Amino acid sequence: MIPITPRSGAVLAALAATLTLTGAELPGGPPSTGTPAGLGDRLYPDLGNPGYDVASYDIAFDYHGQDRPLDAVTRIEARALAPLTGFHLDFANGTVQSVQVNGRPATYTREREELVVTPAEPVPAGGTLRITVTHTSDPRAADSGWVRTADGLAMANQADAAHRVFPCNDHPSDKAAFTFHVTAPGDLTVVANGVPDAVPTAVPAVAAPAGKAAPAGKAARVPALTWTYRPANPMATELAQVSIGRSAVLRRSGPHGLPLRDVVGAADRDRLEARLAMTPGQVRWMEGQVGRYPFETYGILSVDTTTGFELETQTLSLFERRVLLAPEHLAAPLMVHELAHQWFGDSVTPATWSDVWLNEGHATWYEWLYSAEKYGVNLDEQVRAAYAVDTQVRKADGPPAAPLPPDQGKLGIFRSNVYGGGALALYALRQEIGAPAFQRLERAWVAGHRDGIVSTADFTALASQVAGRDLGGFLQAWLYGAVTPPMPGHRDWVAGPARTRASVAVKPA
Ligand SMILES: [Zn+2]
Repeated sequence: MIPITPRSGAVLAALAATLTLTGAELPGGPPSTGTPAGLGDRLYPDLGNPGYDVASYDIAFDYHGQDRPLDAVTRIEARALAPLTGFHLDFANGTVQSVQVNGRPATYTREREELVVTPAEPVPAGGTLRITVTHTSDPRAADSGWVRTADGLAMANQADAAHRVFPCNDHPSDKAAFTFHVTAPGDLTVVANGVPDAVPTAVPAVAAPAGKAAPAGKAARVPALTWTYRPANPMATELAQVSIGRSAVLRRSGPHGLPLRDVVGAADRDRLEARLAMTPGQVRWMEGQVGRYPFETYGILSVDTTTGFELETQTLSLFERRVLLAPEHLAAPLMVHELAHQWFGDSVTPATWSDVWLNEGHATWYEWLYSAEKYGVNLDEQVRAAYAVDTQVRKADGPPAAPLPPDQGKLGIFRSNVYGGGALALYALRQEIGAPAFQRLERAWVAGHRDGIVSTADFTALASQVAGRDLGGFLQAWLYGAVTPPMPGHRDWVAGPARTRASVAVKPA
């Protein structure tokens, strides 16, 4: 993700000083089953659920317009990690009509944002859970993962909104296979993560009641189509994308024949062409930095609405139309930021939300590097500007790898400490071990952890291995310290208070 407005962390810092949220001290008390509501993530303690590991989601949505709930069936296949007499799914913003487990009706209750399920029969450790939830998914709530656009819907689930779209184990530490089936009126286009599994199929019209002919003189409506997408790689719930709208799908070829696929408003295809045409070169540039692109396709989803952020939904990054129309030297680095996330965050996924600097620090680093190489921005000056405010940022938002509790809303934990702060730590590491070793580390990181789940400790361990010496203390200070350490090679730099925060601000054209 990248927010495009400056953030204020002062209120949060004051709040954090008085609050310690843990799984045992949740507002409203623990759920009545006694099962923990979440995995105890230190930033989002309620997210995710213990006791099982999801292998796959198969989600069917029936779309009736952006102001009405979608009808949905979510099928989950999971493996029990312990004997289960009951379990939780994360779910909100929809009604539940029924829950089945292993083919039999299950009982369930709703407790805040949890769907608490009791199967008809206990499931042994190692056993399979086949869960079918028939439900609705309401796009109207402000905190929904759905984003209402000028002509339909898109998704922006990061960090904690996927379960406000479909029932799930809503934590990045449980990646799974996904299949989407989306039924929508035939004059709309549906695109989801990955490539289409098949051509869209027409939905058979509901037969008129026996003995009754269809009303005469009524114009035939455009038949609905069902679109099926199945991304090739496992995916975190926060990275799911389903776009429904009056869209044009534009295709081109990237490096080594990588299929590129952009989704834009049908009226925008010419206006956006200059930006979209930059993607092949940007993929080539990123591959030159870190190695082969990790997925089967890439592209840009342009939405005509104001979200206030851009988002790296897997294989299809979400962009506000207004950002794509911004001057090239502002828009293009943000395109590289979301592209870099396909390696850092999407393919290689953080184990906890405290590790999100591994996503944002890297994406910001490549955004800076690209700005320097392509638009002549002085890299050291850019880094020095972030360095100058870093102590202030740590005070307001926490150190990069130990952020303070999230703000309200979708920008939650997406503050300067994980962007500029994370990129600064990477620059410091590069200064410390040298650019060639740093590049070896980056390439080994994304190749060795492809489709995997990683922690900050994993990064420190690999950095030490690649450098051939223990970097634990060095990275501890950069990632967890209350104050900004001296910058190797730039002992004259001062991390003092400053008048402005190190946020990226884009003024749309
Ligand atoms: Zn980002």
